[in-house]
Amino acid sequence: MTKQLILIRYGELGLKGKNRHLFIGRLANNIRAALKGLTDWQVKVTWGRLWLEVSKEQMATAIARLQHVFGIYSLSPVLEADKEITSIAECAYAVLLQALPLGGTFKVETRRTDKTFPLTSPDTSRAVANIIFDKLEAEHKAEYDADMHHPQVMINIEIRAEGAFVYGETIPCAGGLPVGCGGKALLLLSGGIDSPVAGWMAMKRGVAIEAIHFHSFPFTGEKAKEKVYELCKILSGWQGAPIRLHMIHFTEIQKAIYANCDAEYGITIMRRFMYRIAEKIASQRHCLALYTGESVGQVASQTLESLSVINDAIHIPVLRPLIGMDKEEIMDRAKQIGSFETSILPYEDCCTLFLPQYPKIRPVLAEAEEMEKKLDIEALIADALSKSEMKTIG
Ligand code: ATP
Ligand code: MG
Repeated sequence: MTKQLILIRYGELGLKGKNRHLFIGRLANNIRAALKGLTDWQVKVTWGRLWLEVSKEQMATAIARLQHVFGIYSLSPVLEADKEITSIAECAYAVLLQALPLGGTFKVETRRTDKTFPLTSPDTSRAVANIIFDKLEAEHKAEYDADMHHPQVMINIEIRAEGAFVYGETIPCAGGLPVGCGGKALLLLSGGIDSPVAGWMAMKRGVAIEAIHFHSFPFTGEKAKEKVYELCKILSGWQGAPIRLHMIHFTEIQKAIYANCDAEYGITIMRRFMYRIAEKIASQRHCLALYTGESVGQVASQTLESLSVINDAIHIPVLRPLIGMDKEEIMDRAKQIGSFETSILPYEDCCTLFLPQYPKIRPVLAEAEEMEKKLDIEALIADALSKSEMKTIG
């Protein structure tokens, strides 16, 4: 079984000293977790770089999985050559045909840190290019040309003490920071389009997530729950680890609000309850912030007035990564991360139950607080929590 090397590039150039060390350690661990189930592979941290060694048969699967690992910017399959010019040129030729099977322009570039290698870097590039052209001519491939300024493919050669390496193709990846290096937060996950995207954006910046979902069983059915499990499963693919999901039984709270508060304040007060419960769970689970899929102006509960009245119920930071995005952009992102098709399944969300005909677009804090006096907030929350459950998904 032949082995294939893959060079793994990570970004965040500002990382220095101890941070850098932790970052790379975390990334290597997340990569190992992503490759679980594949056989015969190895992640190596050498020469200040990350490499994956994998069998040729499993290379495509490994690459597809690595494209879901935050912290990786791009990948390049690398060929290892013997440290002499003919072998290096053969690898360079293979890289060219692989990257541009139908012809195109290329440039050879060499970096030589092993000064015992007899040719300088420019001489190596020239020699390799000459051998490539000889081979192209011998095989009657006329569709290739050198281009020193804007080549379609850069054939990179690295000659190091450890060996000679050749690569061309650069496969773009998800970027961001390794999940976990930014602590942990709690995602308010509805069954909609927005909140899974918000969770994805949290993870992209290295923040691991747990999720909390409010359901109004039996008004919202089993299918609606399953949809949330499925969304968690999709997100866990990006987390590289299972997601802990807190399923909160919200029915009695909604009924109490409906029975005691003005209908137009129903959504505002309901959301204040969601935030309060989320804050409690966050503190139990050592989550440092809440994440939501709110975006200014999208619906009545997302005006600045609304957001501020809702936010006033709690103290923990609420992060809203979609705040400046248009719905179109959010939908495109949802498609890219794989949550869109699940999000649009038509099951009831607890927010759509008891929905007032005219929700208050500019609620006033004092009015919301006045209405809440009719409710035993602590008892309602304690009761909801006692009927709630936790699941680990992914
Ligand atoms: P989404 O597409 O995420 O459902 P939305 O545009 O429908 O968002 P709202 O229903 O007002 O907007 O919800 C705003 C945010 O509040 C959601 O993005 C989510 O973070 C949170 N949220 C709403 N409903 C629930 C729920 N049932 N469980 C958990 N979080 C919720
Ligand atoms: Mg919603």
